[in-house]
Amino acid sequence: VSITVPKETRPNEQRVALVPSVVQKLQKLGVEISLETGAGDAALIPDASYSAAGVNVGPVDLAATDIVMRVQPPSLAEVAQMKEGSILMSFIYAHREVELVKALRDRKITCFAMELVPRITRAQAMDALSSQAALSGYYAGLLAATELARILPMMTTAVGSIRPAKVLVMGLGVAGLQAIATARRLGAMVEGYDVRPETKEQCESLGAKFVDTGIDARGEGGYARELTDEEKAKVAEVLTKRIQQADAIITTAAIPGRPSPKLISKAQVDGMKPGAVIVDLAAEGGGNCEYTVPGETTQVGHAKIVAPLNVPSLLAEHASELYSKNLLNLLELIVKDGAINLDWDDEVIAKAALTHGGEIKNEAASKAVN
Ligand code: NAD
Repeated sequence: VSITVPKETRPNEQRVALVPSVVQKLQKLGVEISLETGAGDAALIPDASYSAAGVNVGPVDLAATDIVMRVQPPSLAEVAQMKEGSILMSFIYAHREVELVKALRDRKITCFAMELVPRITRAQAMDALSSQAALSGYYAGLLAATELARILPMMTTAVGSIRPAKVLVMGLGVAGLQAIATARRLGAMVEGYDVRPETKEQCESLGAKFVDTGIDARGEGGYARELTDEEKAKVAEVLTKRIQQADAIITTAAIPGRPSPKLISKAQVDGMKPGAVIVDLAAEGGGNCEYTVPGETTQVGHAKIVAPLNVPSLLAEHASELYSKNLLNLLELIVKDGAINLDWDDEVIAKAALTHGGEIKNEAASKAVN
């Protein structure tokens, strides 16, 4: 079985799908690995580290490989080069990539879309959404700290004490909980809010106060559903004060397959403290704040809204390491005794498959394409 890791081609992507420390474990599965020259450069991993680990580094031939491992979706040209019936493992986000999904289908590629790996206990080690979100949440805590003109911890000095900053984290999934943990480590007073009641305990266990809005918007598969207008009004009533008292807000709220819910209105931003900072981690889906401009930092009156895109890429070294391990764990289900063996009765294989054998296997993606 041959695996190829091409150099990422999308702008601003610094991660790479394979790190040298994972190579040996992959080889134990009986695979031969090729990596395109310079594929690790942006993640600060030199070609020599891969060669030393036993990888063939050089130009790659997608037509001659059984499995392609990537971070971001391939181009249509790359799909055209791939061998019919070969396997692709990558983030895809089918609803944004209709032409690509059609190409994968028509080329009869078996594509495992990493964002489709089910969020079940057994698949945790393959859950790239979680591994990357954890790093993003951490980074959001740091961004909030550095964008503020204040410090986060309480500090006692010869000229008096400084009060700790107040940080509000909205959306307590994987990223939000890491944001809480990071802001807490830096000494901030932290509050958290989510619409899934089970997040209360998780929030409190990290030393943050849970802002209870009394809403229960648990949706399918452990995710949140969209709020009704009535619920939104109720949330706004409770949260406006918390928003106005915060020095920094970190937002991470998402609903699968939907644009990011707007948690902070323009009026609420206008009422924030001078110097307040919002770090909007939901920028990829349009953002959680009405003023958010995805990918940009916007000054609105006294407040600053920071809305970075592709945050995991900014932590390329660790993001690549975790992602590469997620791929390894998924590959262990796919390659057995040096051969590809797809068990379609395995929930992880069945759910993570976007295309296979000339068909679109994922229902939502199939709807998006047709
Ligand atoms: P996500 O990125 O889809 O959403 C982030 C958070 O935003 C969620 O907590 C969601 O409840 C919240 N949210 C949505 N609308 C909101 C609103 N209007 N106001 C406030 N908050 C709002 O979430 P995620 O980090 O991908 O995690 C999703 C779920 O999957 C969680 O239940 C998580 O515990 C679960 N999970 C399970 C496993 C596993 O068991 N293998 C692994 C990872 C995550």
